[in-house]
This record gives sequence, C-alpha cells and structure tokens, in this order.
Amino acid sequence: MRYVIIGNGCAGLRAAQAIRERDPAGDITIVDCERHPCYYRMRLPDYISGWRKRDFVFMVAEDFYRENRIRLMAGEVVTALRPGQHEVTLASGGSLAYDRLLIASGARPRELAVPGSDLDGVVYLRTLDQADDIIRRGNEAHRAVALGGGLLGVEMARAFNEMGLETHYLIREDRFWPQMLDAAGSELVEGVLKENGVLLRKEDGIEEIRGEGGRVRGVLTASGEELESDLLGVAIGVVSNLEFLEGSGVETDRGIIVDDHLRCNLPDIYAAGDAAQALDVASGEHRVVTSLLNAQRQGEVAGTNMSGGDAALEGVVPYNVIVIYKLPVACIGLDLPPDEEGYEILTGDYPKDGKYRKLVLRDGILVGATFIGDIGEARFAEALIRKRADLSSWRDRLFREDFNLRHLP
Ligand SMILES: Cc1cc2nc3c(=O)[nH]c(=O)nc-3n(C[C@H](O)[C@H](O)[C@H](O)COP(=O)(O)OP(=O)(O)OC[C@H]3O[C@@H](n4cnc5c(N)ncnc54)[C@H](O)[C@@H]3O)c2cc1C
Repeated sequence: MRYVIIGNGCAGLRAAQAIRERDPAGDITIVDCERHPCYYRMRLPDYISGWRKRDFVFMVAEDFYRENRIRLMAGEVVTALRPGQHEVTLASGGSLAYDRLLIASGARPRELAVPGSDLDGVVYLRTLDQADDIIRRGNEAHRAVALGGGLLGVEMARAFNEMGLETHYLIREDRFWPQMLDAAGSELVEGVLKENGVLLRKEDGIEEIRGEGGRVRGVLTASGEELESDLLGVAIGVVSNLEFLEGSGVETDRGIIVDDHLRCNLPDIYAAGDAAQALDVASGEHRVVTSLLNAQRQGEVAGTNMSGGDAALEGVVPYNVIVIYKLPVACIGLDLPPDEEGYEILTGDYPKDGKYRKLVLRDGILVGATFIGDIGEARFAEALIRKRADLSSWRDRLFREDFNLRHLP
C-alpha cells in the first residue's frame, strides 16, 4: 500500500506513526515544503525569546524517518491533486502516486493588508525559518510592535519584550483573546503584560506602516499616533493551506470538509489538523480547530483508518493553553456562548488571588471552561466536553474549595 501524506506537521507525523504501527510493510511518503524534521510550532516563541535552545523545538530527531522507514521529501511542494489518477503533482516536476492520501497541509498566517505591508521588517511567525529570521532581526532592532489580540499576538509581544526590545502591543478589541476570554479573564493577562513592560494599546490597530529605504521605521495607528519601530510582528489569524486543491473536486469551506473518520468527499483521501474542518462538539458546527492536540488526535484517527482500521473522531474541542510570562491560561471548548437560552456561565467567586475559573454549561452539559493561574483541570475539562458530560447533578459542588473536575467519573 502506498501512503502519501502532504504535511510534516504534527497531524501528518502522527498519521504516519499510526500507519506504521498497523502496516509494517506499507510505503509511506511525507512531502513538506519545509526542510526540518517535525517540530512544535508552539515552542517557537520560547526559542525566539531565548528561553529555549533551538534543539528543544523538534518533536523528532532527523533519523526518526529512516528508523521508521518513512520517506521524507523535505523542501518539496505539492502543487496539485489529481484524484482521478490517484496522484499529486510536485513543484520540482513529476508526480507521486498514492493508494491513500492524507492532506495535513496546516495553515499559514493571515497577511496584513495596509499600505506598507510589503516593507522589510514586517514579520509573521509560523515556521522555524521565520523564527530564525526574527531572532536575526531582533538582534539589530531596538523597538517592535506586535499586532493581534489572539494567542499568537500575545506570544509575539512577549517574545519581542523578552528579546529586550521596547514593545508596543496593539489589540483591535477591548480585551485580549476576545473570542475566548471575558473581561475579567483578560484583565489578569493584561496585568501580567504590563508588569513585564509590554506597552499595551487596546482598541487600536494599524492604518499604515511607514518605512525608509524599503525597511520598517514605524507604524501609524488607527488612533492617529505614530509609533517608531524596526520590526512589526503580525498575528491576525491563520488560513488553511488549500490552494493546491483547486479544481481537484475536494470539498472545502474554510478547511477540508471531513466526516468523523476524517474522510473527505473523494475516495481514499483524508484530511487532518489545521487544514481540516470537522465537527466541533461544543458548538455543534463544523469548524477548523487550530490546536496541537486536535491535529495530533485527527492525525491518529486518519492514519488508523487509512491503514484499514476503524477509528471515529469523538468530535473536536478547541483546546488552547498558553503561559504568558509565568501566568498559565487555558481556554477549552466554547467560552463565550451565544446569547441564547440554555447557556449558563459559572464563575463562583472568581477572579481571586490572581486566578480565574469559569465553566460554561448548556442545559447542564459542559461546553466550555477557562482556567487562569492554575490550569490543572484543563485536560479533564477537555475530556468532559468531548464526552458531553452532564454536570447538572454536580452543579452545587462545582465551585467548592475541595472540588476538582478530575474527581468526576
Ligand atoms: C507560534 C505558534 C504558537 C502556537 N501555540 C500553540 C499552543 O500554545 N497550543 C496549541 O494547541 N497550538 C498552538 N499552535 C498551533 C499549532 O501549532 C497548530 O495547530 C499545529 O501545528 C497544526 O498542525 P498541522 O499538522 O495541522 O499543521 P502544520 O503544523 O501547519 O503543518 C503543515 C505542514 O504542511 C506543509 N505544507 C503546506 N502546504 C504544502 C504543500 N502544498 N506542499 C508541501 N507541504 C505543504 C507546511 O510546510 C507545514 O509544515 C501554535 C502555532 C504557532 C505558529
């Protein structure tokens, strides 16, 4: 059996591992534009800020592929998919035939579209090469601006600040991580950013990037102020990498539409990770969920099914964990429920002592949870949301001092 996997990220890698476990003789090829063994993108901010060495970012060593008899075509780009011929075409010329194909092509940063966006010094953080480039630029810079109120924006602001750069951090909304955190949760995060010297500007954006000799020299904010800067880090969301699927007949929306076995609409083709759009149990909608845990889980299910197994995804649950300086933050599932009947937001007497704990129920079923300061319950919350646990009978105990979600059966 010939397996081809597009993408050497954590979804593609986990799928290859699952295939190899079930099919010791199968012919596995992973194609990826990047030239590195699989690495943790979430570790890039700590690498940039100097907390961690470069080696620490890798998920596997170079010989992993040889040892597992996986052919890694690194630095190779898939340009098109021809489902009728069961093959993908490659930028270097030629094609690659498959019996089973996994599309795990991930996502890339959404680009900023304002005047000056093409100036040298506007940076994005998705790849190890970009991280190396930011380190090099950071060594020559004095001031930086980070843009974007999501997880990546705050990571970028923290990394710039820890590189020793004077850092302005611009958030368009009135709080940090607006899709996930309410005002009380955001305040804790904002406090820690300010304590560490990040110059936070809420409800502000960038009108224009100003340059000199083709290089960034500052930004003009939406509020009309000019901030001097040598570097602008943009983190305004991601888009799935789907361009090479054009004309292939693979059904896509924001991501590739998949069923609970990670099959797409065409035979022998699967999708997983940031490129796939599967059922989100918390919201009941098909969503692209961009998280490591989700990508690994989907990779495992896809790889199992590609190699003749029968594994079903229990649904995806957004799972975001981040440590901002020393403050851990976890947002799981649906955090800001729609303004509809049936939803209940429970916070007990939080925030208190620099911590926050919030549970969201829909008709008694846990659909979302936020933990700040102490995230020990995060994994259990994710499992309870995924299993659609009914907490009605525990309702009165959920915020008692001695209660912990891990105690639930
Ligand atoms: C800085 C940063 C911090 C993050 N922090 C967290 C965090 O704290 N928690 C969390 O859960 N998640 C975090 N994430 C998100 C997480 O890393 C992603 O959800 C995860 O990497 C998705 O894995 P994937 O395998 O689906 O895609 P990717 O890791 O994006 O891998 C896809 C691969 O496909 C390759 N590719 C794409 N198109 C082609 C093509 N046409 N031909 C060949 N190869 C192609 C790409 O080069 C890439 O290597 C973070 C991401 C970043 C960038």
